[in-house]
Amino acid sequence: MTIKKNESKKLFLEAQDLMPGGVNSPVRSFKAVGGTPHFISKGKGAYIYDEDGNKLLDFTCSWGPLIHGHSNPKIQSSIIKAIKHGTSFGTPTKRESILAKMIIKTVPSIEKIRFVNSGTEATMSAIRLARGYTNRDLIIKFEGCYHGHSDLFLSSAGSGLATLDQPSSPGIPKSVVESTITLPFNDLNSVKNIFKKYPTQIAAIILEPITGNMGVIKPIPGFLEGLRKLTDKYESILIFDEVMTGYRVSLGGAQKLLNVTPDLTTLGKIIGGGLPVGAYGGKNKIMSKIAPEGTIYQAGTLSGNPISMAAGIATLEELNNKDVYKYLNHISKYLADCLESISKKYKIPTVVNQFGSMVGIFFSDTEVNNFKDVTNSRIDIFNQLHRFLLQNNIYFPPSAYEALFLSTKHTIEDIDKTIDIFDKFCKNISK
Ligand SMILES: *Cc1c(COP(=O)(O)O)cnc(C)c1O
Repeated sequence: MTIKKNESKKLFLEAQDLMPGGVNSPVRSFKAVGGTPHFISKGKGAYIYDEDGNKLLDFTCSWGPLIHGHSNPKIQSSIIKAIKHGTSFGTPTKRESILAKMIIKTVPSIEKIRFVNSGTEATMSAIRLARGYTNRDLIIKFEGCYHGHSDLFLSSAGSGLATLDQPSSPGIPKSVVESTITLPFNDLNSVKNIFKKYPTQIAAIILEPITGNMGVIKPIPGFLEGLRKLTDKYESILIFDEVMTGYRVSLGGAQKLLNVTPDLTTLGKIIGGGLPVGAYGGKNKIMSKIAPEGTIYQAGTLSGNPISMAAGIATLEELNNKDVYKYLNHISKYLADCLESISKKYKIPTVVNQFGSMVGIFFSDTEVNNFKDVTNSRIDIFNQLHRFLLQNNIYFPPSAYEALFLSTKHTIEDIDKTIDIFDKFCKNISK
């Protein structure tokens, strides 16, 4: 039962001399849950294999992109076909229009789109566009939502609800985050008050319409509709950051499912099928302000890269079938329902939130509607659970603030295996 980690430990030690924390993105370091990250040598379907030869059932799917599982043959062959003709040209290619057309057809808010190389780039470019279009500076975001690591988002709320933000990382000029206002998620009144205070200065509201970066939290009824009304009334831009939820919760993203259409949408992750990508798009009258059609500048050497486009096209093709989302929803709901009923059986206060193939588990005895609710939950129990599952070859995201992702390659047997182990865990801690 105990799982070998000698090789991963050795590799992690070496990596720590070479890269900060031994990783190229902080959450991978296992700092949040303790222990050593697994160095992965390959992935197949719902499973990843590490350098010690352990086979792990993967509930992260590379943090979302791999909705069809690892090493999907159709996506692989699309990539290989593209690679054989070259890797980058810095001039237009047909695949960019093919993927653009597929996205425009499915995501309600997008009439025109620009491809970039990451979700971070997508959100920072969308903000520049919103500011340039409205000729205003202030941005509203919500505590616990993640929009990548660009300066303007690395801030936290000031001392009061109506005050401007403070930097949340060294290296961020105060002057940059002073045009950001961070408010509690699901709190429409606080947004109303900010608009009353700054009626003509707010360029945009940006949010994850269903959050994944503080675990899975749904918007309470009326929240998104209220934001839509306020941004219309005050002529601000509403931006849905669907880098995670786009093509994850439905073919048209959260906006289609929840029936609220933003002005701009950012995408990433799934639309790149596991390769680096990002995109932002929206109403033609706004998107046409981007250079060279308009004057708002944004560019990229590798933007619209043919290999990323090929992976994205194959991924979306495989999603274009109603049964895919039906299946994903079915196995995810089954997992969520079982996690909930087992916790109940052992009287462990738990909140399980599921939306499409995103699942979040919080050890909490109150509802979880915003970031404070998440930080007030028992993070220590999640961390214990993470270690216990890993001992049993099940890989949950190494942080209580992240969502679980399922793929079309996860089977009912995989889920049954997971809930058996979860049952053992609950039994142990309830003793
Ligand atoms: C992952 C993510 C980003 C950042 O994307 P990167 O490709 O990591 O830069 C932005 N917004 C949301 C909602 C995300 O989930």
